Amino acid sequence: MDMLINGKHVSADDLAEVKNPYTGEVIDTVPVSHLNNVDLAIDAAVNAKDSIGEMSAFKVSNKLYAVYEKLKDNKDELAELLTKEVGKPINESVVEVNRSIETLRLSAEEAKRIYGETVPLDGGINGKGFFAFTQRVPLGVVAAITPFNYPLNLSIHKIAPAIACKNTVIIKPPLNAPLTVMKFAELVNEEFPDGVINTVTGYGSEVGDALVTSPKVDKISFTGSVATGLLIASRAGMKKVTLELGGNDPLLVLKDADIDKAVKGVMNGAYLNAGQVCMGVKRIIVDESIADEFTQKLVSETKKIKMGNPMDKNTVLGTLIDEDAARMVEETVNNAVKAGAKILTGGKRDGAFYEATVLDNVTPDMDVVVNETFGPVAPIIKVKSVDEAIKVANDTEYGLQAGVFTENFRDGLRCANEIEAGTVFVNKQSTFRTDNMPFGGFKNSGTGKEGVKYAVEEMIKEKLIGLNLR
Ligand code: NAD
Repeated sequence: MDMLINGKHVSADDLAEVKNPYTGEVIDTVPVSHLNNVDLAIDAAVNAKDSIGEMSAFKVSNKLYAVYEKLKDNKDELAELLTKEVGKPINESVVEVNRSIETLRLSAEEAKRIYGETVPLDGGINGKGFFAFTQRVPLGVVAAITPFNYPLNLSIHKIAPAIACKNTVIIKPPLNAPLTVMKFAELVNEEFPDGVINTVTGYGSEVGDALVTSPKVDKISFTGSVATGLLIASRAGMKKVTLELGGNDPLLVLKDADIDKAVKGVMNGAYLNAGQVCMGVKRIIVDESIADEFTQKLVSETKKIKMGNPMDKNTVLGTLIDEDAARMVEETVNNAVKAGAKILTGGKRDGAFYEATVLDNVTPDMDVVVNETFGPVAPIIKVKSVDEAIKVANDTEYGLQAGVFTENFRDGLRCANEIEAGTVFVNKQSTFRTDNMPFGGFKNSGTGKEGVKYAVEEMIKEKLIGLNLR
């Protein structure tokens, strides 16, 4: 598939193969673009600022609704393509596409609400006699850089709010899962003037970095790993930057938890998308008094998971993004076992598949829980008290989301209050998000928020206009 720059299809001399991780088949190729194409895309986005700037908010909103209708018309095709490029079960791809449709609807609504406010300057000692108000104006050119695990919806969480605020966009999807978002960009381009949306594909270190360092780009909206996010922060200069980074989310099971509910939380949180979820359950912190019963039930449920062809509607666990990713998970689990952890079920790799794995006797210093393990692994750490559970939960560089299971209202609220994370759910696992809620982590999990209304705040600059009436 070609890139889309200024409404035209553009290729490059080098091509990268996009492979289906389940069959190994090449499903398509995309250009490995170099700096010349990045410059073309940036110029197209700069030149299109006036065309979108002249559109009324009403028209921008209607056009976003038109893209929303198109996305609905193409939803089956996009879900299949998503499963082919990422290896996630088709049911999960359908959920991602449906959420993308919702993100677009929310953005079409929000396009009509880019309000400013009046500011009483007379609240300052010298501000009497003014009438002042703020305007929220577009930033200009937004570069969106996105990861492989939810390549469509996470890209739309940037593209749609950016356009709702009348910015122009360059999207750089990951080379291993670029196709669904490139198709989506074509749909956007059918509704908006050429250059409002552009795609560039290539290596992050080359085309991604060129976007990050270009003086003509006004905003970087990035979702991906902490390592890349820190690099981008150091390279972006004075640009506005939003960083949605990795997570190492805890799930706390306190002594009076509803154990069945907590087990369900792990099932829906640790194995979703083969564990490749930023807000996936990555550390299970269980009170030792109920650990045996909880673990037994978790192992029994985990053993029922059907791993296999991601296109099969009964499949629950598909492949990881590629064999290298599965090997990394295998190595991390094997190292944990060498350090004293015990595999209760799972633990085997087959190509790009890795079995759903319950790991017991995990201690907080093991790499499997110190770092973000991006695979279907449920590591259990036992604790003796609520104090210790909170301490272990917070003992990490990450702070994306968290979940606490307890029937004790006071303990639940205390954990919610004391856990350092962007979101804490009580009686729900961290792996839950609605597309309108503020989403974004504390600590090294990032800076800035997404969730359409909140993403809009990251896509505008505020200007004050003051009239001296005296
Ligand atoms: P990654 O950081 O390797 O890549 C993300 C994107 O950055 C890709 O498009 C890549 O090409 C680009 N990139 C790489 N080097 C770059 C550079 N020097 N300059 C500019 N761009 C560059 O991440 P990944 O492996 O694709 O995704 C997995 C990670 O993303 C995990 O850590 C996961 O937790 C995180 N993630 C976070 C969220 C969130 O909302 N917080 C959501 C999904 C994934």
